Amino acid sequence: MIASPSPSAAAEINPWVSAAARFDEAADMLGLDEGLRKVLRTAALEVTVHIPVVLDDGRIEVFTGYRVQHSIARGPAKGGVRFAPDVTLDEVRALAAWMTWKCAVVNIPFGGGKGGVICDPSLMSMGELERITRRYTAEILDFIGPERDVPAPDMNTNDQTMAWIMDTYSMHRRATSTAVVTGKPLDLGGSRGRPEATGRGCMIVTQEALKRFGLTPADTRVVIQGFGNVGGMAAKLMARAGFKIVCIIEYDGAVYNPKGLDIEALMKHRHDTGSIVGFPEAEEVDREEALFLDCEVLLPAAKENVITTANADRIRARILCEGANGPTTSDADAILADKKIFVIPDILANAGGVTVSYFEWVQDRQGFFWNEQLVNERLNEIMVDSFAAVVSYGDKHHVNNRTAAYMLALDRVAFAIRLRGLYA
Ligand code: NAD
Repeated sequence: MIASPSPSAAAEINPWVSAAARFDEAADMLGLDEGLRKVLRTAALEVTVHIPVVLDDGRIEVFTGYRVQHSIARGPAKGGVRFAPDVTLDEVRALAAWMTWKCAVVNIPFGGGKGGVICDPSLMSMGELERITRRYTAEILDFIGPERDVPAPDMNTNDQTMAWIMDTYSMHRRATSTAVVTGKPLDLGGSRGRPEATGRGCMIVTQEALKRFGLTPADTRVVIQGFGNVGGMAAKLMARAGFKIVCIIEYDGAVYNPKGLDIEALMKHRHDTGSIVGFPEAEEVDREEALFLDCEVLLPAAKENVITTANADRIRARILCEGANGPTTSDADAILADKKIFVIPDILANAGGVTVSYFEWVQDRQGFFWNEQLVNERLNEIMVDSFAAVVSYGDKHHVNNRTAAYMLALDRVAFAIRLRGLYA
């Protein structure tokens, strides 16, 4: 039997406990009054829908779905829709708040939202997934829209799911409305540069951090955990920019080359064999230990709760760029601070994705599409400005980057609430 974590370890790895701890710290530092804290702690709208769907065998099943809008103070709600068996309203609520802070850090005109449907996509056919998506969309139709709430892909949903949402919404509205969702296929109003955007954003903020250390990409050894969308794109783009990607860690192994891995060749190897393991131009290292390799940059881009009080003191990177959501527990923050590790927090580091989603929404509304160079230039501008805003906020208030990012976000959202008089 697998031992369950102790209550304190379980609390440490609860991302919502971490998010709440960071919210409270930032609110205290800002001296935010109790009224605004109440507003920001509570979601503006929570919808629960029960979705009847005919399964392929003719049975009717009823699924439960949610859409939560945490805040619309700065613009329409923005956030993904996940399909998973363990979706809960609590989780969707917390993820919606997370989106509010992320959009505010990069100063894009969106609030925060999230949605989910309790189902197991691994057991469902494409037809069943399509019917569940369309019915879920129809049920939440009155709450979403380009000016209200703009869903996007999340766990187990993708560009096809977004195409179905967009079509269902458009059918009901009797007009094509591409801007109702982002993360669509390119042919249906998607944006160029979106697949690379999160990894590219990680690279841009890392490049900004290097300047503070007087490092160049050629002097910079990078360890990346996760070789999926975020980690794989970051690895590819950073290798092209001259960084030395010395180690890639995946769920089934880790490959190491102190001279720098050939990322394109590693991608081909994974494509051909299904794994990074067995790559001839690298040595295999223990995947647990690889996180603690001596390097300039550690980029966790796989999952949450990778850096905890149990291992934070072993991290040897100078810069931690959080590509994943919640890779560091709030309890581990103090250990990283003691070690003077420069942390680029998730709500900044991985915000390149939502930034290009914002560009997608803008392009859909303009009906005019940008080339990839323009998308990348504008992404670069926003990430560079946001990095500078967070770091200078931290310097001014003598707090670390994570607290600074939360303070900046809370401050911006609270300012919008006061300006609008959202409580009147
Ligand atoms: P993905 O599924 O494409 O890639 C994740 C990769 O991590 C996979 O290759 C998987 O095999 C690997 N992995 C899983 N568990 C691992 C482990 N224990 N050790 C090592 N590798 C492991 O997912 P993604 O879209 O790249 O997302 C990764 C993280 O980034 C998630 O936390 C996600 O929420 C966050 N994120 C993604 C985006 C985006 O645009 N895709 C945007 C913001 C944040």
